[in-house]
Amino acid sequence: MGETIKFLPPLAPVLARRQAIIADLKDLLPPECLVHEERALVPFETDGFIAYRNRPLCVALPGTTAEVAAVMKYCHRYGVPVVPRGAGTSLSGGAIPETDAVVLGLSRMNRILDVDPANRTATVQAGVTNLSISDRVGPEGFFYAPDPSSQLACTIGGNIGMNSGGAHCLKYGVTTNNLLGVRLVMADGEVVDIGGKALDSGGYDLLGLICGSEGQLGIVTEATVRILAKPEGARPVLFGFETPEQASACVSAVIGSGIIPVAIEFMDKEAIAICEAFAHAGYPLDVGALLIVEVEGSDAEMEDMLQKIIAIARQFEVKTVRESQSAMEAAAIWKGRKSAFGATGRIADYICMDGTVPLGQLTHVLKRTGEIVEGYGLRVANVFHAGDGNMHPLILYNINDPEEAAKAESAGNDILKLCVEAGGCLTGEHGVGIEKRDLMGFQYAGRDLAQQMAVRAAFDPDWRLNRSKVFPLEARSA
Ligand SMILES: Cc1cc2nc3c(=O)[nH]c(=O)nc-3n(C[C@H](O)[C@H](O)[C@H](O)COP(=O)(O)OP(=O)(O)OC[C@H]3O[C@@H](n4cnc5c(N)ncnc54)[C@H](O)[C@@H]3O)c2cc1C
Repeated sequence: MGETIKFLPPLAPVLARRQAIIADLKDLLPPECLVHEERALVPFETDGFIAYRNRPLCVALPGTTAEVAAVMKYCHRYGVPVVPRGAGTSLSGGAIPETDAVVLGLSRMNRILDVDPANRTATVQAGVTNLSISDRVGPEGFFYAPDPSSQLACTIGGNIGMNSGGAHCLKYGVTTNNLLGVRLVMADGEVVDIGGKALDSGGYDLLGLICGSEGQLGIVTEATVRILAKPEGARPVLFGFETPEQASACVSAVIGSGIIPVAIEFMDKEAIAICEAFAHAGYPLDVGALLIVEVEGSDAEMEDMLQKIIAIARQFEVKTVRESQSAMEAAAIWKGRKSAFGATGRIADYICMDGTVPLGQLTHVLKRTGEIVEGYGLRVANVFHAGDGNMHPLILYNINDPEEAAKAESAGNDILKLCVEAGGCLTGEHGVGIEKRDLMGFQYAGRDLAQQMAVRAAFDPDWRLNRSKVFPLEARSA
């Protein structure tokens, strides 16, 4: 985008042994599972943070934990950097490779190993897609709650890497709240199990540490996740407001009232127009902001909650209230929201920011976001998880115009700083990756960062796993 992506300097001895490394890894994996020809590497050069790309040394696609361990042992022995990869949908550049790195792709490990209704768990390989867990346990009356909009493609390993969230995480929590255990291949190839089917285990919360560690503490090859009983029913309602300020004040009031809907999603005028043109979801086009509020439970419970929420919305002069009348209508409402990023991609290139703010700051941060982006002469569409204050301004720009791209990046940085200044943080669910790496010093004091880096080094003393991500490069080389 603005400038070339920066990595830690490539390790010259690794690059010098390039052909030998490829030959050795070929001995550890079935022949079709080692990708090294220039053209075949192209799909692995980038992820959802498409403005940047870089070619790795090669891509290993193991099919078992034993193969992952063999590759990791080899890379440990010869000091080869490793970048773990799921489906490559990261929006923060978490899966973008480095020139001297082996990309370890988990996509072939895509089997659901065990469904245990009595313990309400499912154990899956890391390359299983998020949605396929719910698809598998659905007929037995269960579902897996975290639902990133990319759930058709993204993997559970990637979800753990980024501690991913989604629209329905307001009630059920994000990945870390639904994860019970992992099988982890350490940087030196040792295989360890952390957690399991039980709800808790003694000692430090290592599982909590692994979840959100962006591929820097080890390679997840299996995960045991919580599955929940499907609710009796669910109903989304659309609320249209004249202004974004009224909509965000309504969000705080609903949460403040003690009612916990399953989801409260926000769209501004720009986002409504984009999503409606794509999904034909029946969104009102004559409003300044839209909330999708979903409640769950029995008919009586849903009706009670909805009446209370509608009464609150009326305090903020809600213009449109549209309750979904059928499963088809509900699906259309969610299709519009869940395809927001794809729909935006039809009309412009965009970068998606991911700051989180306290609910009381939503109005201020939304207003300033608009002013910041306008100050750079660009446009913004806001579509986000309002109930947990996780904002996603989509800054629209032209990727082929370097000046505009630099402006988009600067606007994004200004917005993330604004979120931190408002008492929030740099990332709600997309992770730090490369995108926010250089802003970490804005949120954390040097000592704080040093402690986090010390934890990382306890797992990966040679600093080989996803080595140029999360921490500012100068902090590493200091
Ligand atoms: C259209 C679109 C919509 C999105 N919507 C959401 C959303 O609603 N909520 C949300 O949270 N995110 C969302 N995302 C971001 C992205 O989908 C998530 O971050 C997702 O969890 C990434 O999964 P993945 O399998 O693609 O992982 P990748 O992108 O391949 O990797 C993500 C990170 O995890 C690490 N990693 C991957 N697999 C492993 C493993 N097995 N062991 C250790 N580390 C690993 C990687 O090194 C990297 O740091 C969206 C992305 C897109 C493109």
